[in-house]
Amino acid sequence: MIRKIAYPALGAFLLLGTTTPVAATPALQHTRAATRSTTPPRTTPSRPARRTGPTRSTRSQPVCNPVRGSRGTLNRRAPSRGQGGGTFGAPRTGGRTHNGIDIRSRPGTGVHSVRPGRVIFSGRGRGGTGNAVVVRHRNGSSSHYYHLQGSHQPRTGTTVRGGQRIGTVGRTGNVPRRADTHLHFELRNSRGRPVEPRLNGRECAAPPRPRGATTAR
Ligand SMILES: [Zn+2]
Repeated sequence: MIRKIAYPALGAFLLLGTTTPVAATPALQHTRAATRSTTPPRTTPSRPARRTGPTRSTRSQPVCNPVRGSRGTLNRRAPSRGQGGGTFGAPRTGGRTHNGIDIRSRPGTGVHSVRPGRVIFSGRGRGGTGNAVVVRHRNGSSSHYYHLQGSHQPRTGTTVRGGQRIGTVGRTGNVPRRADTHLHFELRNSRGRPVEPRLNGRECAAPPRPRGATTAR
């Protein structure tokens, strides 16, 4: 016999879940930890305290490295040089959190889309993004590339292949003057929430172009 069980609490929880749609214009890559003031105090500290980053538990499928020749090096935390840690979830001033990873590279190095998709933003973003490209992928997720030089960027609405060049590493936006030049790379799920990017150890490369296709740079 199957017993019917109602889940009113679960329904309420789902209703409370916030969704952040992917904005057409990328905003500053840091968000405040929304759970800070609403998390009730722990009464049974049976588990070790865990940092409550906004989306640390949501992991993404590994993707190729969008910067060729970078070896996937992340910015290390170097406050004396005016930069914070380049890892996902690294703290920022004012209770903000780093929503992507920073991939250190020389200025002008090519930046490549990690997956095929459609460019939903290309240009100067709001806040500290600088020149930015945002690609939306078929499953609704999106990849974000910030601080670009502004050259070789496809126009908004362009369809790009996985591995296609979509810009070059630059220092636009809120990159501190003494910080290393890097690509700020962000992945967001279909609900617009940042997820931790994981690199699969390979650099993004475009597949061979089918015969008769035109070059779109
Ligand atoms: Zn960053």
